[in-house]
Amino acid sequence: MSTPWHALESGETLTRLDASAAGLDSAEAARRLAERGPNSLPTPRSDRWWWRLLRQFHNVLLYVMMGAAIVTSFLEHWIDTAVLLGAVVVNALIGFIQEGRAESALDSIRSMLAPHTRVRRDGRIVDIGAVDLVPGDVVRLVSGDRVPADLRLIRARDLRIDEAALTGESLPVEKSTLPVDEDSELGDRRSSCYAGTVAVFGQGDGVVVATGTDTELGRINALLTGIDTTTTPLLRQIAGFGRWLAAVILVAAAATYAFGVVVRGETPAEMFTMAVALAASAIPEGLPAVMTVTLSLGVQRMAQRHAVVRRLPAVETLGSVTVICSDKTGTLTRNEMTVQKVVGASRTIDVGGVGYAPVGTLTTGDGTTVTRESSAALDLAIRTGVLCNDSKVFEADGSWEIDGDPTEAALLVLGRKAGLSADAATAAWPRLDVVPFESEHRFMATLHRHDDGRRERILLKGAPESVLSACTHQLDDRNDQHPVDIAYWDRRAREVAAQGLRLLALAYRDREPATGTLEFEDAHQGFTILALVGIIDPPREDAVVAVRECHRAGIEVKMITGDHADTAAEIGAQMGLGVGRAPVTGAQIEALDDTALRHVVTETDVFARASPEHKLRLVRALQDNGEVVAMTGDGVNDAPALTRADVGVAMGEGGTEAAKESADMVLADDNFASIAAAVREGRGVYDNIKKFVLFMLPTNGGEALVVIAAIVFQLTLPMTPAQVLWINLATVSTLGLALAFEPTEKTVMQRAPRPPGQSLMTPFFVWRVAMVSVLMMTGSLGLFLWELESGTSVEVARTVAVNAIVVAEMFYLFNSRRIYNSVLDREGMLGSPYVLGAVAVCALLQLLFTYAPFMQAVFGSAALTLADWGKVLGAGLLVFVVAESEKWVVRRVRRSRMRERSSASALS
Ligand code: ATP
Repeated sequence: MSTPWHALESGETLTRLDASAAGLDSAEAARRLAERGPNSLPTPRSDRWWWRLLRQFHNVLLYVMMGAAIVTSFLEHWIDTAVLLGAVVVNALIGFIQEGRAESALDSIRSMLAPHTRVRRDGRIVDIGAVDLVPGDVVRLVSGDRVPADLRLIRARDLRIDEAALTGESLPVEKSTLPVDEDSELGDRRSSCYAGTVAVFGQGDGVVVATGTDTELGRINALLTGIDTTTTPLLRQIAGFGRWLAAVILVAAAATYAFGVVVRGETPAEMFTMAVALAASAIPEGLPAVMTVTLSLGVQRMAQRHAVVRRLPAVETLGSVTVICSDKTGTLTRNEMTVQKVVGASRTIDVGGVGYAPVGTLTTGDGTTVTRESSAALDLAIRTGVLCNDSKVFEADGSWEIDGDPTEAALLVLGRKAGLSADAATAAWPRLDVVPFESEHRFMATLHRHDDGRRERILLKGAPESVLSACTHQLDDRNDQHPVDIAYWDRRAREVAAQGLRLLALAYRDREPATGTLEFEDAHQGFTILALVGIIDPPREDAVVAVRECHRAGIEVKMITGDHADTAAEIGAQMGLGVGRAPVTGAQIEALDDTALRHVVTETDVFARASPEHKLRLVRALQDNGEVVAMTGDGVNDAPALTRADVGVAMGEGGTEAAKESADMVLADDNFASIAAAVREGRGVYDNIKKFVLFMLPTNGGEALVVIAAIVFQLTLPMTPAQVLWINLATVSTLGLALAFEPTEKTVMQRAPRPPGQSLMTPFFVWRVAMVSVLMMTGSLGLFLWELESGTSVEVARTVAVNAIVVAEMFYLFNSRRIYNSVLDREGMLGSPYVLGAVAVCALLQLLFTYAPFMQAVFGSAALTLADWGKVLGAGLLVFVVAESEKWVVRRVRRSRMRERSSASALS
């Protein structure tokens, strides 16, 4: 056995892997990938198709139908037996197909969430899919990354890893590059990082030693959380309702049977048919399948709008969100940073140009061009910006692009505008060490070899408060040092921030003796401030529109940012947030107790200099006020707030893996507008489910009422059990499904959010279902009796009754496209190809049912005359007209109630 990786020196590790600290080249990586296979763990084996199909039969209703089929076969009612069994099979098939569709919708989304990693290839750091990692690759880890494979560290800078996923240890472990004892336990191997664990602080580079199933994670065969495909509260509510209904119906059917046989003395065979007809009519078979499809279509629609749902219940919760807390940088703003001002100790310089193209000049207020060389302080400031920097700008296909943090890229562009490239700056002062930027301490420091060879120079950049507190001096344009004038810098910082510019301060310190390493404490004192830099980051136009849309939809938007209070206030004002109110800062939040904070969150829309712990407290305070909160986040420390929020939203582009994994939804484009779009779709999905339930239940209700009336009044059954099953199957699979494809109504964002936890079965719902059930029963039973009265055969009368129900459903499908609003317009009647197509298919099925000889043989149906069809259409039209009139009345009542409420609130 050779020495394990964690016990080897890092140099030896590289040699053994035939790799170098500069990484592999693409050709070698491709060769190794072909040889070793992808860096992935086997996905949990999805169930075999036949098993998924079999599972569909595990359903109370299907048990009832199968039981009934057995009894009818004993009674030698062969046709009923065949139809019952046929219905069982068709039902199971529908469930199977729908489940497959939902699965594949979620699968395609899962691939959108595949983890990425930064790796050195061909001498550059590039972003690749984690599956493409091979042994020998050099991976760059920063806080928030999930470790993509097993790594032996070759560089570590305050790198702390949360290994709970592997060892169960909840405290993060500090890593280093020194080899550890060969026999160390996993949790003690500080020189290595393991796939599946999370970097929570610092930075490091590690060479990949094992991928895929060779990793420790692969060995213990653990699987990381993927998309959660559990059901949602609403689906559970409906499933529970379905089971409850099935039980009630079974009892009712049994009671009917007993009553008929014992009290009325009917024959058991006759009563059994009645009981089966009742059960078949009342149980809403298609409910769960169509709902799953509606949800997964919603998830797909959201993905098209760049909002990738990780947990299904979020689709519903989105519809009842009352507050969205959003980061500023990159979400509300474009994250295309350009330095506009450099404020020195004695003058301010304006910088021309926009975007990342290094075109623009440096001028003073009176328009005179300034060169970098004109002042040592300016030169040093620009150098600091370029060197204390981990990003890159480069030209690709004629446009300028960046790699890394846009704030830093803006400083590189400033350097180029002033004639200083990153390469030239680094060649003069090579970097020895770094303290990376973390949003808690808001600064970054780098250590460089001074050109005099004896000393070292520390460069510091960060939020003005963090940097100024470390400064004792300032440097003026004549290269003279003075004691730092804090009041001057504070005043200038506020001036620049009030223009909505993002602020950075730049400072330096020389030191001897040279140690070559930089500690966190080294960045705290003895610095000389060089300049403040003002960076513009304009609001995203679509986000401004989306904020307005949210306000209209009764949703409050709160901006929570790490930026300066004045910058936040100005950008907020440009977006219509917190106008006329001073932002509340992180420091102020800390001074408030929970009760006071609950009050403050209702009044304030902009929070500045806030860190992740503040976000967590804000979510809690909002939730204590009864709000349903969506919260965005990107960093590893945002995870608790994301988990706590009702809908945690992570950034797909700029967010860390840790944030994504705690989130319910990931924004592919980091754009606030996509959250608003997701809320809109969330409301739409909920609407569609409501519409489907409102459509389906009256069908069952109407049929059940027809059968009950027949039993109570001792009539001939107006529909045989086989006919009832036919209606249910023919309509759910055509008409019902069409509602899953309903586009979101234009007015969804003009309503107030749905109260969370509201039951689907509101009194209005019950009323609507009851009303339409009675209408359907009236049409169907009325026509049946009329037919019998006029002396036609039972077969014809039954065919009329069946068609009356189905045609009424076709009409009612149009009503159901809008719950409250009228459908009497072009869009309402002709707007959905799915509805029109479904009606056409359903009509064809009914013609088959009525005229095809084999259908007549199976279902006992008979051909109808034109006059019969006229009556049937009349019954359908009746439902349509009454349902539209009811909506009209409901709309008027709601409007007058709203008026009363608003005049009452105006009076109080
Ligand atoms: P939001 O939460 O809206 O995304 P943000 O991204 O602006 O806010 P942070 O990234 O925490 O918040 O930045 C806070 C402050 O830290 C900035 O205003 C800036 O002064 C400073 N800062 C940001 N990026 C860097 C960096 N790379 N190096 C040094 N300082 C930085």
